[in-house]
This record gives sequence, C-alpha cells and structure tokens, in this order.
Amino acid sequence: MRTRIVAGNWKMNNTFREAEKLIYEIMDLLAENGTDDVTTVICPPAVFLELAHDLTRESTLEVGAQNLSQFEKGAYTGEISARMLQSVGISYCIIGHSERRKYFNETYQELGQKVGQALKHNIAPIFCCGEQLREREEGAHFTVVEKQLAESLFHLDADAISRVIIAYEPVWAIGTGVNATPDQAQEMHAYIRSLFRKKYGGTIADALSILYGGSCNAENARELFANPDVDGGLIGGASLKASDFHRIIRSFG
Ligand code: PEP
Repeated sequence: MRTRIVAGNWKMNNTFREAEKLIYEIMDLLAENGTDDVTTVICPPAVFLELAHDLTRESTLEVGAQNLSQFEKGAYTGEISARMLQSVGISYCIIGHSERRKYFNETYQELGQKVGQALKHNIAPIFCCGEQLREREEGAHFTVVEKQLAESLFHLDADAISRVIIAYEPVWAIGTGVNATPDQAQEMHAYIRSLFRKKYGGTIADALSILYGGSCNAENARELFANPDVDGGLIGGASLKASDFHRIIRSFG
C-alpha cells in the first residue's frame, strides 16, 4: 500500500504562542484518536520549525518546512538551506508551491535545484504542481502539469525520485473555497501516475504518494481521499484549526 500523507501548510500564519497552542492541540487529538497508517506533517513558518520539532519529539506528528534555498550555503542573505533544516531535524519540505512560483518567480530550474538540495540532505520534497484556471479552461491542464514535472523532476534517477512526494494543487482551488471535484482530482492524479510509469516504470509509479491540495477541508476530504490515486492532502486554511485538521487526517476509507 502507498503511504498516505496529510500535510498542513500553515503559510505565513501564527505567532509563537499561537503556533505552540496549535501544535499541542493537534498532538492531543492524535494521541486521543490517531491513526498509524497516515503520515501527518505540519509545515509551520521557518521561525517555528525548531519549536515544532522539539514539541513533537514524542509524537507521531512530523515537521516540514515551506521552502528552502537552491544553494548549499554562503552569501544569500535571508535564505535558509536544506543543510540548516536537516540540522534542526526537519524531514519534509514543500517545494514549488504556486504562491512561491507566482510571488517569488521560482523557475523550473530553481525548483529542480531545490529538490536536489532537499534530497541531498535527507529531506523529502513535497513537490507542488497544478494549472491555473485559464489553462484548465483552455484544456491545457495536462500539458502544464506534465511540463512542471518534466522540467523540475524528471532528470532525477530512480533512487532519488522514489523519495519525492507530489502534491497536485490546481491554482484556482487554492484558498478559494472551490475544490477540484473528486473526479477532476482522480483524473489528474491518474495522469500524473501514468507519467511516472512511463518515465520510471510501474514499481516507482505505484509507490508514489500523490496528495491533493486546494480548498480541501473536513467536509470534502473523505470524498477526495476515496479515489484510488489520491493518497492524501496538502491542506492550507483547514490546517490552522486543530479539529478540522484532525478530521481530515481521519478521512480515509
Ligand atoms: C495550499 O496552499 O497548499 C492549500 C492547499 O491551501 P488551501 O487548502 O487553503 O486551499
């Protein structure tokens, strides 16, 4: 069976105290009513990563970053390297979120370098892909997603690619309250898996975890996760409320 994963992307939200409270609330809910067969990850802002790692030491909750530098080290003011993240115990990182592509102009090539840095430092990349509304309306969504994957990931060898997690996040669904329908999600996830099958073969494609993201919440998660190629979710807004996030984690079959 593929690894089921629910990851919470906190984005630029919460103060230190709020972060601490949310982490305790999620851990309490998981301790009361957890599930061993779902890997649960929170991705707080970088300034809270060490706190999150320390608080979750005894818990099943994993911690991921939202971004890392494409460079190894050196004169890159304001950047955080994969090596630094590894040194504070971080084992996941979101890479290529559409907000970073849009506001920080992250290119295919930089994203490929970021994935390389993550893997080099034993951090599992949660690599985001997804089309904009106009692209879906034009029927270009499959081509767009294929290009995102091919340009930033498909230079990797089999060993490296098997450590990557994919998050399909249609841009029009992120933070809008309009999620992809379960059929739309399944269709794209199956397509993504077929690309990996063609490039890397059945064993790698069948083991690949593909998460859905975009207005996934406690009400619609069960329907989305019921699809055979949807292996979990990358959750934005709904990951900021412990009870909603917990309900999403409990939304598998
Ligand atoms: C996200 O930003 O990754 C996301 C899925 O956001 P939301 O769940 O709020 O749509």
